[in-house]
Amino acid sequence: MMTAAREVSVFGDGITYFNEAAALLDLNPGMKRLLTKPSRQIIFSIPFQRDTGELEVFTGYRVQYNFARGPAKGGIRFHPGVTLDEVTALAFWMTWKCAVVDLPFGGGKGGVTCDPGTLSLGELERITRRYAAELVEVVGPDKDVPAPDVGTTPQIMAWFMDTYSMHVRQHVPGVVTGKPLEIGGSRGRVEATGRGVSLVALAQMRRMGIEPKGARVVVQGFGNVGSVAAKMFVDAGCTVVAISDVTGAYHNDRGLDIAGATAYAQEHHSLDGYRGGERITNEALLELPCDVLVPAALEKVLHAANASRVQAKLIVEGANGPTTPEADHIFNQRGIVVIPDIVANAGGVTVSYFEWAQDRAGYFWKESEVNERLADVMNENFTKVSDLAQLRNVPLRTAAYMVAIDRVVTSMNTRGVYA
Ligand code: NAD
Repeated sequence: MMTAAREVSVFGDGITYFNEAAALLDLNPGMKRLLTKPSRQIIFSIPFQRDTGELEVFTGYRVQYNFARGPAKGGIRFHPGVTLDEVTALAFWMTWKCAVVDLPFGGGKGGVTCDPGTLSLGELERITRRYAAELVEVVGPDKDVPAPDVGTTPQIMAWFMDTYSMHVRQHVPGVVTGKPLEIGGSRGRVEATGRGVSLVALAQMRRMGIEPKGARVVVQGFGNVGSVAAKMFVDAGCTVVAISDVTGAYHNDRGLDIAGATAYAQEHHSLDGYRGGERITNEALLELPCDVLVPAALEKVLHAANASRVQAKLIVEGANGPTTPEADHIFNQRGIVVIPDIVANAGGVTVSYFEWAQDRAGYFWKESEVNERLADVMNENFTKVSDLAQLRNVPLRTAAYMVAIDRVVTSMNTRGVYA
């Protein structure tokens, strides 16, 4: 789940998109005020002993943005760029992502400002356990359910779950999702985000009259999301003509061998040295002629400077925030359809919801059941979003925020605001 350096600027973009949708919903000003403020922000110090014996202090965060539809839900990020602002923005984002696919969760996010790449396994374990211990009172299956994010892994979730369980003196697998299978993880979780990306892409291609067979697909980022999405596109009959990772981009007009590229990336921990395609620059990849472009790496890769050169008919946001509002505006003007991140990459949190439900029931589903239910959730909610986009003549992004905001507001109004 590790990606490269990130910027603290997603909240502004999120607010821009929120405001556009809120205006169309005629949201009352008090509700708008409430929804643009986090419910709770927690900052704490994490004393941490290095393997050398030296004592240091890191800063930990957890933001619980909204609880109207259920416990907060969202990942934990270990990255040097983590700040309260960034964690708040990501918790805000999770609120709409959970709502747009109709999960019974609010939005949350957490993090520790640290560089996991420089820490030993033992050091990571000590940070994780102290981070979890600091949050014992405010997390839990009915309060707030963390998950992996950038820089955190299933093993880190296992340590979190163990620490929480030790403190509350009972076995509580449902306190976090994204755990290894053997301690209450869900089958299908690893593939869920990429699978969801391809499901909504294929649904939109049908609406646009793009036949999957022979459709040309470009994927930026060949990690968890990008490599799984690429495989799913190939399985559906599409031709993946270009892929990339942090080491470079690879293009083959006749189609790349995705199974071979995945095996190569697994063996070499990157695509560096991959010979299955002609080497091009990462920038050129985004501008290749294609039917579908899937940015599945970092935020803000499609921006005002390159948006007018993008030649895709459909952009499916596997990553969080890959398109700036300026680029989004250019795509709308040029008739390029964008499936927004809060819908396109919601497959991961959907299977996290399934994991939470399985942990609480103590009964685990077959992989085929997980995949079938994931397809139901993605297809049903994507249809709702695209029908609304058509009805109101707005981009899919605006429609997605409208569906999500409406669901959160309906829950808040039904519960009543305790004010
Ligand atoms: P990952 O770390 O497994 O993969 C990221 C990939 O992007 C790697 O192949 C990396 O080399 C590549 N990359 C980094 N910088 C690049 C660059 N400049 N150009 C091209 N490629 C570059 O991460 P992931 O889990 O696949 O996540 C990718 C994106 O999807 C992130 O934005 C993440 O927040 C989002 N996302 C992931 C999930 C999930 O379940 N994994 C869920 C929702 C959203």
